[in-house]
Amino acid sequence: MTTPLEAAYDPDAFRATAHALMDQLADYLKAALGGGAAMPVLPWVPPAVNHERFATPFPEVPSQEPSGLFAALMARVLEGSHHLHHPRYVGHQVTAPLPLTALCDAVSSLLNNGMAVYEMGPVATAMEHHVLAWMASRLGLPASARGVLTSGGSAGNLTALLAARQAKAGFDAWNGGAHAGPPMTVLVPRTAHYCLARAVRIMGFGEGGLTPVDVDARFRVQPDALEAALQDATRKGRKVIAVVASAGSTTTGAFDPLEAVADFAQAHGLWFHVDGAHGAAASLSPKYRAQVRGIERADSVVWDAHKGLLMPALVTAVLFRDGARSFDAFAQEASYLFHGDDDARPYSDVALRTLECTKEMMSLKVYTCLSVLGTRLFEEAVTASYDQARRFAAKLQATPDFEVAVPPDCNIVCFRHTPAHVPEPGWDALQARLREALVTRGDFYLVQARLPRGAYLRTTLIHPLTRDEDLDVLLDTLREAARG
Ligand SMILES: *Cc1c(COP(=O)(O)O)cnc(C)c1O
Repeated sequence: MTTPLEAAYDPDAFRATAHALMDQLADYLKAALGGGAAMPVLPWVPPAVNHERFATPFPEVPSQEPSGLFAALMARVLEGSHHLHHPRYVGHQVTAPLPLTALCDAVSSLLNNGMAVYEMGPVATAMEHHVLAWMASRLGLPASARGVLTSGGSAGNLTALLAARQAKAGFDAWNGGAHAGPPMTVLVPRTAHYCLARAVRIMGFGEGGLTPVDVDARFRVQPDALEAALQDATRKGRKVIAVVASAGSTTTGAFDPLEAVADFAQAHGLWFHVDGAHGAAASLSPKYRAQVRGIERADSVVWDAHKGLLMPALVTAVLFRDGARSFDAFAQEASYLFHGDDDARPYSDVALRTLECTKEMMSLKVYTCLSVLGTRLFEEAVTASYDQARRFAAKLQATPDFEVAVPPDCNIVCFRHTPAHVPEPGWDALQARLREALVTRGDFYLVQARLPRGAYLRTTLIHPLTRDEDLDVLLDTLREAARG
């Protein structure tokens, strides 16, 4: 007699369930990649409907064989979820992951090597080191650069700014608290991701902890505005510790002029942080590397592999040009006082330098894809998606009933439909109606952006197999929906 627990761990039952699941997933992948009218991108239903669909109480004991229940439940999950492998998914900066990553995640979940200390994840720790070294070298950071993988760009930006605070506060803010010295602030572009506004508040700087920096008509930081922001902060009694630049910004994908920001940071002795969550991957593309020129001068960089590296959520690199600084974010001692003994601190115990204690083996999928599929694939994915965004923008620009907000720096394109049959005051409402129509019907998934000139549609061409024809169909579908 096997007990239910023994049965739940039975390797042969696992084998059979896994084989069946792999067939189910491969069929799903084929259907999703095939796209077409039969499969909506997002099978949209109101939240209450899904709450109801999944409201079945958990049984005390299953009524049937677990393997059959599992297959049926996974079928419902696949059917009801958002299909990011559909080539007409052109919405948020969330990628259609390489299928190989799903297999790595299965391995990671089964092994469950939590990595807080080396012994709890010996292989994943080594892999993390090599993945970070590869990323740092692509950015042009010096060999002294080190970092950590963490759970997302938001956690990554907080981690980098905590290190900046410890390095530049001039007092021990970690132990004494943010109020133990003069109030601090960080210069942040107006277009930056909201997680930076959160990070300064989490650090106890309050609202004034973020000093906004103006951007130009292409949504890039104006170098002159940095000086103005610094003076403004100083006038308000704030000590500026750091300056942030986006590569690129979330809404329009604009890349700030990193060299100018680096010069400014250097001239004023500030920490220079680059939020490259979305666009640090440009460094991989020989054609578009110039977008991130100057990133090699950053004190810290955040880079989401789940945006530009075809990985599933979440895996984010936080890189420090001076590797020893990576210990400062969560410094349990006033390490800003004690530099020099860094060799004694173990890089292999990653929890010393991350928000997480136990974390997923996130390095496994990145390392595996880089080593099994090779690095060129990633270069080509970046180049192709940036190329496609430029072709799409050029087409929109040449089309009288569409308008591009700004020429794209990367794979994000904001545009709007401006048909002659709708007068200009109705354009904002039209974009909202069009997005709603396409998304709820499941034709395409795209999002909206509010820019100074009004409401725009926003696409991220992040699926490497989206074709130009899909984008042609997008425009036709928008035209039809506008008339309908
Ligand atoms: C997506 C994004 C973030 C947030 O990253 P998560 O991984 O979603 O937490 C931060 N900054 C920029 C520029 C982004 O595009």
